[in-house]
Amino acid sequence: MNKKRVYSFGNGNAEGKADMKNLLGGKGANLAEMNLIGVPVPPGFTITTEVCTEYNELGKKPVVELLKPEVEAAIHNIERLTSTKFGDAQNPLLVSVRSGARASMPGMMDTILNLGLNDEAVAGIAKKSGNEWFAWDSYRRFVQMYGDVVLGMKTESKDEIDPFEKIMEAVKEVKGINLDTELTVEDLKDLVKRFKKAVKEQTGKDFPTSAWDQLWGAIIAVFDSWQNTRAIYYRRLNNIPDEWGTAVNVQAMVFGNMGNTSATGVAFTRDAATGENLFNGEYLINAQGEDVVAGVRTPQEITLEGSRRWANLQNIPENERATKYPSLEETMPVLFKELNSVQQKLEDHYKDMQDMEFTIQEGKLWLLQTRNGKRTGAAMVKIAMDLLREKTIDEKTALLRLEPNKLDELLHPVFDSVAIRSANVLAKGLPASPGAATGQIVFFADEAGNYENSILVRIETSPEDLEGMNVARGILTARGGMTSHAAVVARGMGKCCVSGAGSLRVNYKTRTVTIGDITLNEGDWISLNGSTGEVYEDKVMTRKPDMSGDFGLIMEMSDKFTRMNVRTNADTPKDAKTAREYGAKGIGLCRTEHMFFEGSRIKAMREMILASTTTGRKKALAKLLPYQREDFEGILEAMAGYGVTIRLLDPPLHEFVPHQLATQKELADEMGISLDMVKAKVAELEEFNPMLGHRGCRLGNTYPEITEMQARAIIEAALNLKSKGIDARPEIMVPLVGTIKEFEIQAEIIHKTAKKVFEERNDSIHYQVGTMIEIPRAALTADLIAREADFFSFGTNDLTQMTFGYSRDDAGSFLPIYINKGILKNDPFQVLDQDGVGLLVKMGTEKGRSAKPDLKVGICGEHGGEPSSVEFCHNVGMNYVSCSPFRVPIARLAAAQAAIR
Ligand code: ADP
Ligand code: MG
Ligand code: MG
Repeated sequence: MNKKRVYSFGNGNAEGKADMKNLLGGKGANLAEMNLIGVPVPPGFTITTEVCTEYNELGKKPVVELLKPEVEAAIHNIERLTSTKFGDAQNPLLVSVRSGARASMPGMMDTILNLGLNDEAVAGIAKKSGNEWFAWDSYRRFVQMYGDVVLGMKTESKDEIDPFEKIMEAVKEVKGINLDTELTVEDLKDLVKRFKKAVKEQTGKDFPTSAWDQLWGAIIAVFDSWQNTRAIYYRRLNNIPDEWGTAVNVQAMVFGNMGNTSATGVAFTRDAATGENLFNGEYLINAQGEDVVAGVRTPQEITLEGSRRWANLQNIPENERATKYPSLEETMPVLFKELNSVQQKLEDHYKDMQDMEFTIQEGKLWLLQTRNGKRTGAAMVKIAMDLLREKTIDEKTALLRLEPNKLDELLHPVFDSVAIRSANVLAKGLPASPGAATGQIVFFADEAGNYENSILVRIETSPEDLEGMNVARGILTARGGMTSHAAVVARGMGKCCVSGAGSLRVNYKTRTVTIGDITLNEGDWISLNGSTGEVYEDKVMTRKPDMSGDFGLIMEMSDKFTRMNVRTNADTPKDAKTAREYGAKGIGLCRTEHMFFEGSRIKAMREMILASTTTGRKKALAKLLPYQREDFEGILEAMAGYGVTIRLLDPPLHEFVPHQLATQKELADEMGISLDMVKAKVAELEEFNPMLGHRGCRLGNTYPEITEMQARAIIEAALNLKSKGIDARPEIMVPLVGTIKEFEIQAEIIHKTAKKVFEERNDSIHYQVGTMIEIPRAALTADLIAREADFFSFGTNDLTQMTFGYSRDDAGSFLPIYINKGILKNDPFQVLDQDGVGLLVKMGTEKGRSAKPDLKVGICGEHGGEPSSVEFCHNVGMNYVSCSPFRVPIARLAAAQAAIR
């Protein structure tokens, strides 16, 4: 049998159905399905997505030959159902030609309406309908759309004004009118003439008059649109494979522009912003296609309730609303009822909130599209839970309906929806840490407290800025990617951050920041949207997020199905507490380096680094011990009852020493050594490639006393808590291990120290010693390491860096280009590279468990809170994922989804 390329639908029959989205695209599959369930849909047919792929391989001519018999038969089928004839002068069939991929791709190709018109057919339509205005309005729309989409009159760039719009505006201006509906028949005829002339001038060709030529031109244009820049860009952004292709839908026209008993509109079965179970939407009388969304006239609400509640008419006085902008419920009560029952039917059938397009032609209702509606995070949660309570869907389905990343919207402040509309965008950076923030500019971390609401603006941040970052409402940096210091720390704090806003010129000396020709001073107000990367001028009102009861229910439900635990990355008791509130069961990564910056600790730390003898270092370390012990007590207590993985000192020592002359001098004086000595030591610590330099366990292996001190602090802290009846469960983690020997020596120091402390205290606790797997060599030799280690934690930030050979701090200059060009699908620092880095993770886990079957395995990189990576971790068989506190709910949901799938 020949391959079927065309699927017809109409009059309650269809060759396709809803679950054929891959072949028919979303629009086509649902048009078929609506026919099957008795919803009124104009007849038509869908050319499959496979033909798009054939077209890309074979080209136009062969594909038209292949399609011809089936398309002609399908057109005849429409002719039969509508009692019209395609290309006829007296009784012409007019159709729309619409694209439709598997996933909805807004802006891929503009739809062509009223195809089949020419100078004769327009007269036929005018005569048949007895409505000349309608006939010519349809014709001028057709010439415009066909000219733009098929004949290339409009360029792809969005800012260029449509050449036809220009002509139209000129005519309207001369006539002194505003609305399309005010144009007379003569105006419309004149417009068609001018439009065609413009086509001839610009393309050198006559506007096609044969309906069949028009149709093939439009079908090919839809296929071509799959390869236009907009579509390619959108696919990149949303990870849609190029091979999918688009379907083409050809459908008999129904007309909303036939006068006052005709209309067109869009509707939602529930409120897409709040999730409330309220049918709503907008419509326009005597209009066609996208007039409602294109803003040619003020659309009216579909329901009475909507007229009262939605913002659309808020600027219009209440008494005028009812008379000038009545709802559909008032203007066409019978049709409203019909539409209301259709929307109910569709939602019941699809068991999800629907977004629908409809047209009313002379008192008869037609549906032109239905799909699962896009919605906000809050609406997503409410709708899923409402459908569950209504028993429309079960728990598993409800959980799978949720997009984990969207939960984020529920956890952070948001901009007031009215205030944000009038805000002026100054710059755009990376959406490094979500939420909305508004405040006054400060340029130095220690000045963040100068204002009640401050925004810390830096070229980039460093570990020293931590406290100031915590005080500020938001952080804005000119440099740095999604895993830059600012971004990682801000996410950890749940603080709004926009990083890498390249157009910012920060001048610390003059305390100004220049963006284009605007210069802002310290104290000036700006606002950040950490979810989009936008930076706004001035103050923009924010409001607290709405944490409804449904959120908690979803988390409870997730735990029912999940197999993995979710831990958190937290360095302070405060973060640990926050994470616990969000349901974290333990800490997967507690970094100790931040603990060395506060107050007088940094002095002791520097003393340790500058000391040239072991005795000197030990002396300084002894000063640090009580601070560390206190910090560990705090964090172990905050996570009592759960494992707390504490990582030993990791960063290169260079990060801790002073780089400014004044501070260097201060240090020299304090330590009673010469400035030159300080300078020499700082210079000595300088490395060409610090990330691959003297850091991680290389520190503990060259200065064992550091490991000794940290191990002691941890064990003593746990014992102190034990004596207070608190269940502390420390897990000591050795970073950056590449060879088994490196780990063995560190583990031995830790065990020896613990033993000593136990003897001193005459008491003991249970503790574990494990390692981070973050160097490829460690993953490759994981079976050896597992013999000695109690647990593995995959540090996928470094592992990604070293597997790809991309410096995390420098990748910003080429990663975006790589992603644009399709060399990489995603930023591997955000989405775990399952094919490469993931292979090391898998191998490391398997090898580790081959040596020690009950080896505890987790992940603590940024990936631990990224849904697709969480699913991967589940499939690999990890015991837990660990992520920043504010991503804990996302990871819990993603882990449950992975288990359900
Ligand atoms: P998009 O995917 O951009 O929404 P559509 O193909 O859905 O594009 O169509 C754009 C507009 O044209 C919609 O308002 C739709 O309802 C309308 N439309 C499409 N086909 C027809 C038709 N056969 N009759 C009347 N209106 C139509
Ligand atoms: Mg469109
Ligand atoms: Mg549509």
